[in-house]
Amino acid sequence: MTPIGTMVHYVLPDGPERVHGQCRPGILVHPLPHDFATLVVFRNGPMDGADHPVVEWIATTEHSPRHEFGTWHLLDECAHERADA
Ligand SMILES: [Zn+2]
Repeated sequence: MTPIGTMVHYVLPDGPERVHGQCRPGILVHPLPHDFATLVVFRNGPMDGADHPVVEWIATTEHSPRHEFGTWHLLDECAHERADA
């Protein structure tokens, strides 16, 4: 189980269409069974949608290294980070 306080990425499933699939940083605040977790996610301000708060609580999201919308992954699993390396 991933420890509380781990920095993770959350794959945006909403907001303006151009940001769908982009990663945003989050902190794992509550691990759940089967690699689900509750996160607090930091959005890119109004660029990620004026109707979303900059800091957002995501109640239940699934771990996936495959970057499906609305899932989380560890920084080491991030395809975007690897592409930039
Ligand atoms: Zn990522």
